[in-house]
Amino acid sequence: MSIVPQRMFYYWNHFPFEDCCRWLSYGNGYILSLREVSFGISDGMFFRNLSFNNALDFKLNARRINPERIDLGPVYNISPALAVIEQSKSLFKQSVTQREVVFDIDISDYEEVRTCCIGSNLCRKCWKYMAIACKVIDLALREDFGYCHILWTYSGGRGVHCWVCDEEARKLKPAEREAVGDYLQIIKSGAFNVKKVHFEKVPHPSVKRALQIIEPEFVKTCVEEQNILGTEEGMQIFLRMISSLCNSETVKEDLKEIFDTLETSGQRWKAFLDFFKKTNEWRTVFVAEELMIQYFYPRLDIGVTKVLNHLLKCPFSPHNKTQKICIPFDVEKVDDFDPTTAPNIPSLFAETQLEKAGETNLPALTKFREGVQVFQKFVSKLEKYKCYA
Ligand SMILES: [Zn+2]
Repeated sequence: MSIVPQRMFYYWNHFPFEDCCRWLSYGNGYILSLREVSFGISDGMFFRNLSFNNALDFKLNARRINPERIDLGPVYNISPALAVIEQSKSLFKQSVTQREVVFDIDISDYEEVRTCCIGSNLCRKCWKYMAIACKVIDLALREDFGYCHILWTYSGGRGVHCWVCDEEARKLKPAEREAVGDYLQIIKSGAFNVKKVHFEKVPHPSVKRALQIIEPEFVKTCVEEQNILGTEEGMQIFLRMISSLCNSETVKEDLKEIFDTLETSGQRWKAFLDFFKKTNEWRTVFVAEELMIQYFYPRLDIGVTKVLNHLLKCPFSPHNKTQKICIPFDVEKVDDFDPTTAPNIPSLFAETQLEKAGETNLPALTKFREGVQVFQKFVSKLEKYKCYA
């Protein structure tokens, strides 16, 4: 069966419209009706500026249009549909009144530090980078900014999304969002053969906290699994970074000489640590820490955070290429999440038939329901701690 009727089946049987609208209402249905929703249909076309008054309205339209994907924009002062009518433009000036602070972390920004995959592939090994990013960002948002209503979703494709839904966050001005984004963006995306982090004295407390998360994982994940020092190319990237961190070409040559006598990534990493233990130069005191941050610190696509009207995939939306569901997950269990077996439209369709025939313990359905539970828990907490606008 083609994907189109299977997706229709998903909107009839699985998509949690009521829970989504409970979230987007923030206790006030009027807010929901001012939220821009976008339906992606085939060939990259979008129906933008849609809005729905309630869950039934949302549900009926999704079932009628059967979108490939659903995205969410901000909350406007007037109905998003009104704003596109030419005549109304002179009557109303459209402006954004609320938008969750959102983060988009994409595995393609880790190209220089991952060796297991390339392009849009995201395997369990790549997921370790995502897991570290989630933990570092989540903790910073809670401890440094005091936010508590944070939703994490796997996008169904190359990465994860974070929605910060506290009222204070939703009402931040663009410049304030930029400041939050800049604070969390130590590593900019793109090639990192130039110095990006350097601790002058002691690392900033938030970097120290990130290091506490990164350090225990580093050897197992980067040195061993990703084998960063196991190949000539990997060594070159590493040495370029070291010479940039220490501002010295000699260090690079000395280390290369040592590395060439060794065989494995693990041996080379150990030799690197020993090498710097012997030097007492103040500039190199934090070199190992700086390096771990360079490899592992979250790479954020900050444009998504800064811009108020940027669309972001709605939780539970299908992914238009992989057909995987954009599924919420519990950040405390992020290490156990497996993006390669995330539920998708065909598996949910097939397993629903099997369940009707009496089968139990079906993996895609189980994972989907776990995602719904995580989401419902998040919405209930929002409702309990009335942080409504
Ligand atoms: Zn991979």
